Amino acid sequence: MNIIIAGAGAMGCRFGSALADSSCQVTLLDDWQEHIHKINRDGLIVTNEKGSSQVLIRASLPGKCDHKADLMIFFTKSMQTESMIKSCLHLITEKTEVLTLQNGIGNIEVLSQYISENQLFAGTTTYAANLEGPGTVEAFGSGTIEMMHVKGERKKQTKKIVSILNEAGLRTELSADILKSIWEKAAFNAVLNPLCTLTSSTVGTIGTYGAIVDVVSGILKEVELVAHAENVPLDRQKVMRVIDSVFDPAMSAHHYSSMYHDIQKGRPTEIDFLNGAIIQKAQKHKIAVPYNTLIYHLIKMLENNRIAITT
Ligand code: NAD
Repeated sequence: MNIIIAGAGAMGCRFGSALADSSCQVTLLDDWQEHIHKINRDGLIVTNEKGSSQVLIRASLPGKCDHKADLMIFFTKSMQTESMIKSCLHLITEKTEVLTLQNGIGNIEVLSQYISENQLFAGTTTYAANLEGPGTVEAFGSGTIEMMHVKGERKKQTKKIVSILNEAGLRTELSADILKSIWEKAAFNAVLNPLCTLTSSTVGTIGTYGAIVDVVSGILKEVELVAHAENVPLDRQKVMRVIDSVFDPAMSAHHYSSMYHDIQKGRPTEIDFLNGAIIQKAQKHKIAVPYNTLIYHLIKMLENNRIAITT
């Protein structure tokens, strides 16, 4: 089984190293030359609760890779999905199964412009990772993956992918409704990522604000309206309970969202695929989403400030 990981950042390296350790042939694809070079020369250094280990794994620029993928797993940021799929088309045949486990709403739509929906699988994951520098990834904690074929078809192939991931120690289940899972994860991120970023606070600190429930439910009620208009049975109370659980300081006292780090480092964020995607779909259904609209523009202003400062 030839597995290609499209995007060898934090998550791509975590998943790629686990799959390589379980004897799959894995290639990491990325356009970060120094990272690729270091992985090919020294192996990928993976740090977790057990310590650090060296995983020997092949890494390549997309254009330099020349073997076809049996399975390709997408792990770029959502706004990079289109450029990545365009540079990977020569590695995909009609037999290649393509799986996106990225955050955000819209990756399925982008990928299905370039490949057949028949070969497209999607999911969500609660695993986390952090890229420390070129060739080095932190893979602490455990997690779960839910996935299915985007149309709920291809049962045999879905089971095969579930078992490949489980054999690599990545705990995976078949999803009953992947759009529901993707939207509920996006709803969670559409609340916490911008709030952490706009207030420069950890998730735990946000949870201590007296009127936080009003803010969270204002955002979530809009996401729920749009989801239901899109025929996605998002369960707002479930998302609310998950958010409540991470407000527990024991869980997230020191945790800043990835969007906060992106803004601090002057990088674009995934806001267009979170609150931005909600606004786009709301317009189609003529639903007013003032909380999400304000949040979207405030994050866009921060992105713009960073670009203005660095140019
Ligand atoms: P990342 O930024 O660390 O990795 C993305 C990688 O893709 C980068 O190394 C970048 O160089 C590469 N890339 C982007 N465009 C490319 C192109 N056109 N060609 C070649 N390489 C390209 O991102 P990440 O943190 O691993 O997140 C990936 C996805 O998983 C996101 O949707 C994110 O929201 C989601 N996610 C992340 C975490 C986490 O803990 N990091 C947890 C769950 C889900």
